[in-house]
Parts: sequence; structure tokens; C-alpha cells
Amino acid sequence: MQSNDLRKAGLKVTTPRVKILDILAGSEGRHLSAEDIYRQLLEHAEDIGLATVYRVLTQFEAAGLVERHHFEGGTAVFELNQGEHHDHIVCMDCGRVEEFMDCGIEERQLDVAKRLGFDIAEHNLILYGHCKKPNCPNRPAVKRGPRDQEPGAGT
Ligand SMILES: [Zn+2]
Ligand SMILES: [Zn+2]
Repeated sequence: MQSNDLRKAGLKVTTPRVKILDILAGSEGRHLSAEDIYRQLLEHAEDIGLATVYRVLTQFEAAGLVERHHFEGGTAVFELNQGEHHDHIVCMDCGRVEEFMDCGIEERQLDVAKRLGFDIAEHNLILYGHCKKPNCPNRPAVKRGPRDQEPGAGT
């Protein structure tokens, strides 16, 4: 199935492309950074370098297979482009990303554009906040030692 998606997008079927597409299609979070994907490849003992992951993701983006999001305070994340529109809410503490689609918000945006004399071509709505997940680092005030640094905070 993934190979078909690649061919449809005009890309040659290569192992790195198929594996990376697999990870994006199977990801629970749905919004993965290049490093997340690289880590999952390592877990599956795939010999694909981080530079290749970046290159493939850029090719996927150009081909319209994935969407790249730059959420503030984080690295770029990628998600499969599945066609249906949705907006995002992002936790500023743990980086959790949730998707939502609210008809009221969508309609109000159309109203605003119409009032200002625009046809909307696209929009990108991102809400930022503090999530209430118990495992979010913002929740309990746990002391964090120097070795408990956020993964990737300094890189
Ligand atoms: Zn959180
Ligand atoms: Zn999304």
C-alpha cells in the first residue's frame, strides 16, 4: 500500500521511503519529528541515517505526502497528509499535540475573510497551552536533576 502511495506521488520506491512512510502511517501520536522517526528506525534495527530521514521527509513534503508543522518552541513535526482539514493544540510543557476540527471556528474564519474581502486559500490555527496529562512535566512539581534534561532540549 505504501509503495502505491509513493508511485502515485511520483517517487521511486526505495527502502528508506517505504520504512519512513510506514512509521508515519503507524504512529500513534501522528505528529513526529525527524528525530522521532530516526529513533523508531533504530529500534527496528534499520540502517537509515538521520540525514536520509531529513532528505526523505523533504521529498515527501514536496510531493504533498506529508505536512510539516513548525510548532513554537519545538522542532518541526511531520504528519501524513490525509486530506481532511484539522487544526492543532500544542502543550508548551511536554509537546503533546492534539488535533481538532470545530465547525464554529471554521465558519467564523470564513465570515471574517468575507467581511475583509478575501477568499481563504488556507489557514493554520494553532492553540498553545498547558495540558493536564499526569505525565506532563508541568503537572507535579518534581525536582529535575541535571540528568533528567528534556530529550533534545540542547540539540
Ligand atoms: Zn503537557
Ligand atoms: Zn495534525
